[in-house]
Amino acid sequence: MQILIKGARVLDPGNLDGKKDILVKDGVIEAILDPSDPTGPGDPIDPGHSPDVQIPGVQIIDASNMIVIPGLIDIHVHLREPGQEYKETIDSGLKAAAKGGFTAVCSMPNTIPVNDNGQVTAFIINKGKQAHAAKVYPAGAISQGSLGTSLAEIYDMQQAGIRAATDDGLPVENSQMMRRALEYCKGLDMPIFVHAEDKSLVDGGSMNEGPSATFWGIKGIPNAAESIMVLRDIALCELTGAAVHFCHMSTAQSIEAIRQAKKRGANVSCETAPHYFTLTDEAVLDYDTNFKMNPPLRSENDRLAIIDGLVDGTIDMIASDHAPHSVDEKEVEFDRAAFGIVGLETSLALSLKLVQDNILSLTDLVVKMSKQPAKMLRIDNDIKPGNPADLTIIDLEIQYEIDPDTFISKCKNTPFAGRQVQGEAFLTMVDGRIVYQKNQ
Ligand SMILES: [Zn+2]
Repeated sequence: MQILIKGARVLDPGNLDGKKDILVKDGVIEAILDPSDPTGPGDPIDPGHSPDVQIPGVQIIDASNMIVIPGLIDIHVHLREPGQEYKETIDSGLKAAAKGGFTAVCSMPNTIPVNDNGQVTAFIINKGKQAHAAKVYPAGAISQGSLGTSLAEIYDMQQAGIRAATDDGLPVENSQMMRRALEYCKGLDMPIFVHAEDKSLVDGGSMNEGPSATFWGIKGIPNAAESIMVLRDIALCELTGAAVHFCHMSTAQSIEAIRQAKKRGANVSCETAPHYFTLTDEAVLDYDTNFKMNPPLRSENDRLAIIDGLVDGTIDMIASDHAPHSVDEKEVEFDRAAFGIVGLETSLALSLKLVQDNILSLTDLVVKMSKQPAKMLRIDNDIKPGNPADLTIIDLEIQYEIDPDTFISKCKNTPFAGRQVQGEAFLTMVDGRIVYQKNQ
């Protein structure tokens, strides 16, 4: 079976931007055809046909008025399997990813057991293949059990398929341990993802330190709890020359530190998540635990600094930090509730708002949600003949209200329920097969 995607604007930053038809065959991109030239060279099936014309053996997808991009890649998700399948499974998480327009995700290792050896890595990759949804590229733990005391079997995990090392969910508190991990991973040519958090400064806090926390009587977490560790790991990056990627950046001070480090030529990169450029701690109303995540929603000054960082390129990527939690873990007192929100099925629409508000160009957004994550995970996702057909077709015009009841994710813990948004994935294709199509 061949698939012909017709009528769309194809946008692959640095490679392609224009009206093209894409022919997919045997899981790969077979040809990119110019619709204005129906007799063009290499034209196997007459792309001049209108979408409603049937061609034997060819499934035609009418993508008129839509854009086709290299598949979105979410570099920071929690799939919860093995160990917490009541929150999410690899299957449900990867299907939620496909619905969100993602063709691949990087899964964090803080499962039960922790992904700190090749067997767990292989389990995740095998389960991922069975999902027939988005692909999974696991990250493995830096330290055994992510306990921060001895290095995990990073080489074994690399052989099994991890693309990064991180103790995400927990900081690597011991600086010497982090130095050793960076030196080791540099030798493996593997990036380390940093969960930047000084636990002694968090000290049991559960939202941003500031007037809102004072108003609600909730213990706060200062910006420095994040930026201190960012500054430390920039220093260790410059000491070792290893690739350091900072996860879910939330504060003005962190962004400025990374900006300066990049100016000095340090091997650093970073991501933020849609909630950090969309919401502030003033959104935390009535102890609604759907607004509780780690790091916490910050001040308006921080939100604006995140946007500046996205615009000037200090922030390389947008990731959801998809962190499903059950109702039981969320419908408790604010300080006892689990940190984290789901994001796979809202990330694209929330990020497209930056384009609608003329903050980022669509090209910039595709760079931050597809091309840069691909580069970090060593995936060649250029739209070109011979590459796997991992594609996302986006309807930029459709307007709707976010409804958690429509989520495929097992959990509905989102602060964005009822929010009006514009734009969503119309179709997600992985290895040439349609893994999500709207209304199907
Ligand atoms: Zn984290």
